[in-house]
Amino acid sequence: MALDRKSPNDLNAFWMPFTANRQFKKNPRMFVGAKDMHYTTSDGRQVLDGTAGLWCCNAGHCRPKITEAIQKQAAELDYAPAFQMGHPIAFELANRILDIAPDEMAHVFYTNSGSESVETALKLAIGYHRARGDGARTRLIGRERGYHGVNFGGISVGGIVTNRKTFGPLVPGVDHLPHTHLPEENRWSKGCPEHGAHLADDLERIIALHGAETIAAVIVEPVAGSTGVLLPPKGYLQKLRDITKKHGILLIFDEVITGFGRTGAAFAAEKYGVVPDMMTTAKGLTNGVIPMGAVLATAEVHDAFMNGPEHMIELFHGYTYSGNPIAAAAGIATIETYREEGLFERAAELAPYWEEALHSLKGVRNVIDIRNEGLIGAVELEPIAGEPTKRAFSAFLKAYDKGILIRTTGDIIAMSPPLIISKEQIDELVGTLKEVLEEVE
Ligand code: PMP
Repeated sequence: MALDRKSPNDLNAFWMPFTANRQFKKNPRMFVGAKDMHYTTSDGRQVLDGTAGLWCCNAGHCRPKITEAIQKQAAELDYAPAFQMGHPIAFELANRILDIAPDEMAHVFYTNSGSESVETALKLAIGYHRARGDGARTRLIGRERGYHGVNFGGISVGGIVTNRKTFGPLVPGVDHLPHTHLPEENRWSKGCPEHGAHLADDLERIIALHGAETIAAVIVEPVAGSTGVLLPPKGYLQKLRDITKKHGILLIFDEVITGFGRTGAAFAAEKYGVVPDMMTTAKGLTNGVIPMGAVLATAEVHDAFMNGPEHMIELFHGYTYSGNPIAAAAGIATIETYREEGLFERAAELAPYWEEALHSLKGVRNVIDIRNEGLIGAVELEPIAGEPTKRAFSAFLKAYDKGILIRTTGDIIAMSPPLIISKEQIDELVGTLKEVLEEVE
């Protein structure tokens, strides 16, 4: 039955994700175009993209090489099943990803998003142990203030309390490490903070509590992005690696945000010199242009599944769009763009400038902490008593009016510009943010 709608532009039809829908629909903010570092709004203004979309457009917007690759692929082979069939460019992309990943990563499993990469990695962890005859290892360990997407596994290992309140009881057999945010000790740290490596020792407590023989994997974001840019204390990730290895537990790095140059290295695993057993990725893999994610796994993880007769399916898992040809074409063109333009190196080179620019906001009204790494940064505001998130949200709205796109989580402003940003644009972003903060109540 045809719906009798007042107008095709009725905004209520689209129930928007992670959005204050009622507020938005009274006063919508619409992007209608994008190029390089800027969005164009429906009222014709240019907005400087301080967040690479949602931490994903690392090469900037509407890059011709990526656009052309998508157009060409769409005309040549639009879709092919990935179950029992293949097409060459999905294999090519897997090799291109491994070229820039730590040497230990040997296989790529495709998904369509960060959330699906997380579910895949958690299932692989449980399946890995079972395949080795160690089927009691089903327990998963996440971390407070972790964000691992929105599916049930991800919100269970994640540490966002609202998820528990809204969607509980979640996946059973999950425990959480303490978060690594120590504001008293580490306030105004530049890069990784000095204090907090000992927080990894809590893993030994959890292991003692449940028995290592029940634990499948530990999953953490090397840098927790969505909950406010929480950096790993120096030595913390290595400790997690040492403890997991000692107890036969897999370590998963959720690199959905940190992957593809964000920290100034291809992956945070490289940046911090700690190699996990699996890495989850998405976002920057295709420059955010086409939905695609990937789980990277070591040969040891992969090979555990390769036991039965050759004609048997080894892993009962996958998506209709795993390795979708158009997404794969976008991924190849994206990785080529990163390489040709040296964007990961560029992020590393710009990082000190970014750091100084951000930390120049120390002393500005309501700013209580600043954190940074690579081209990622956070400015934390003192919450208004009794009205958490209101101050940062006001800053977000004002920033948009003044022509910069920032993101907020709680009372934390997070920024992660495309890696093509110039020093002048860093000055513009931070300078405008300063004006905004001086005006926000
Ligand atoms: N893991 C991490 C670390 C993320 O930051 C995100 C998204 N911000 C996700 C998973 C989920 O990704 P998606 O929104 O593509 O499902």
